[in-house]
Parts: sequence; C-alpha cells; structure tokens
Amino acid sequence: MKVIDKIVEMKQFIYSVKEKGQSLGFVPTMGYLHEGHRALIKEAKKHNDVVAVSVFVNPLQFNQSSDLEQYPRDFLRDENILTNDGVDVVFYPSVDEMYPNELSIEMNVVKRTNVLCGSSRPGHFEGVVTVLTKLFNIVQPDQVYFGSKDAQQVAVVDALIHDLNFDIRLNPVSTVREKDGLALSSRNVNLTTSERTEASEIFQSLLKGQEYILNNPNWERHQVIEIIKNYLDEHTTGKVDYVDCLSFPNLLDDIDKNHDIIIAVAIYYQKARLIDNLILNHNGFIKYGSE
Ligand code: AMP
Repeated sequence: MKVIDKIVEMKQFIYSVKEKGQSLGFVPTMGYLHEGHRALIKEAKKHNDVVAVSVFVNPLQFNQSSDLEQYPRDFLRDENILTNDGVDVVFYPSVDEMYPNELSIEMNVVKRTNVLCGSSRPGHFEGVVTVLTKLFNIVQPDQVYFGSKDAQQVAVVDALIHDLNFDIRLNPVSTVREKDGLALSSRNVNLTTSERTEASEIFQSLLKGQEYILNNPNWERHQVIEIIKNYLDEHTTGKVDYVDCLSFPNLLDDIDKNHDIIIAVAIYYQKARLIDNLILNHNGFIKYGSE
C-alpha cells in the first residue's frame, strides 16, 4: 500500500490510475479505524479497481478545541489495518499541507443543517464540505463511501455532490454495531467503563421509537421524540443533546406519508459525544442504516 502525504504526489498517483482506465473508490476518514470504517472499505473494494482512503483529522469541522485535542489518533495502527484490508493508497496529509494559508473562500451549507448535529455544532458541516471539496478534487473518485451512522453527513454530501456537480456516486453504508447495539465510533474509547455499559441504551432508545412507529400507523412525531427522551432519561446518565424525528434526506419536521424518516439521538458523556440514528420508511421498517 502506498502512503502519500503530499497533494502533488497524490494527484500523480491518481493520474496514473485514470490513465489505466481503472475505477476509483474513495473512503474519507479521520483515522483510528474500526470495523465501521472497514465495512466502507470492503464495500469500496467490491465495486472499484482501486481503493483510496484518507486519514485526516480536519480541524475545520471541530467547533470545540477540547474535542479536537481528545480525538484519538494512531496512524501506525491505521496503516496496518489498511494494508491488511488491501487498500491501494492512503492519503495522510498534515494540517499545513491541507490548509497552507488562511482560506479566502468559505462554504456555507444552508439546507439540511439547521437541525441535529448542524444546530448543536455550528460550523461543523461547513468544515466537512470544505475538506471534502478539497479531497474530491485531489482524489477525483468515481464512487465515495460514507457511513449512515453519520446520516446528516450523508444528506449534506448528497447535496454537495448535486449542487456542485461532482461526477461522483455516493454510497451510504449501514451502521456497524457492537454486539450490545452500540454504534462503533472512534470516540467510544473516550467513554468510562460505566458510560460504555450504559451507552448501549442509545440504540435501545431508537428501537423504542421504531417500535412505536411500527405499532401505530398514525404515529406522531412529537410522540416518537417523547418516547425516546423518556427512555434515555431513565436509562442513561449522559446528557441528551438532541432527540429528533425528521424526513430523510431533507431533514424537515414536516413529515409526509411518502417520506422516509430518520430518528436520531446525540448524547454527551464526560469525554465523548455519541450519535446514532435509524433511517426508516414511513411504516417504521429499516430503510438502511443498521445491521
Ligand atoms: P470518521 O473517521 O468518524 O470521520 O468516519 C469516517 C467514515 O466512517 C464516515 O463516513 C462515517 O460515517 C463512517 N463510520 C463511522 N462509524 C461507523 C459505523 N459504526 N458504521 C459504519 N460506518 C461508520
């Protein structure tokens, strides 16, 4: 596997891939890889001749410096995983390589971000679309792979690709979970032992919301939210950041019978903020997003 940390070298590598007429799948990550990332890589390998992964903790998408500092990193470990998984190239740039000087252009995401993580992490999705625009231009992938654990990110990337005419196919991949239901996340290592035990209740709370929808054809949005909130209040010491039920992928609270929906939760523990969601059709059946 090639490890490349310079943009110009990455572009040369990509040029040689394109010259051979090979298809290119791309998995952007912030590293500290786990089975969730590996599921995206596996999917990318299935459908592309060449697979590129980026490992870059993007400072622009962190609105709290403590969160950025606490974000776990271990590139050697990542490199091993990526080599074993048969990835062709990992792009591992420094912050200076990606942002050599203050940006003159700011991106502003005006839809799909006034809710969920967009409202509790101001500037987060602006940072995400900025780095992805740069990465998409450097890597020029045919297909990209994103986890539906970060469903709002999928919705925003979908808008980015369409609005800015990237010739890229977006593939959402189902959330990979621990045996007890906790969605895998690089941030899980920052949980205390007791927080880790009770964090499985996040998924359970979503299942309660889904159960209510499945059993009530005329379900109401505010009831879904209340059921999940009540469950979380009883079962976890974490502080609820948000619980919501919205249309997907437009993320509006005006839900029509034809709409798919997302039920989503974010919880603050002492040193980690965890998110999870289910994407359902209007009758409550899993659309995609969970295994
Ligand atoms: P991150 O390194 O957290 O930026 O994540 C990189 C990619 O992996 C994103 O597209 C995430 O949505 C995806 N991802 C993270 N956790 C999981 C998971 N548990 N299951 C599936 N995909 C995931």
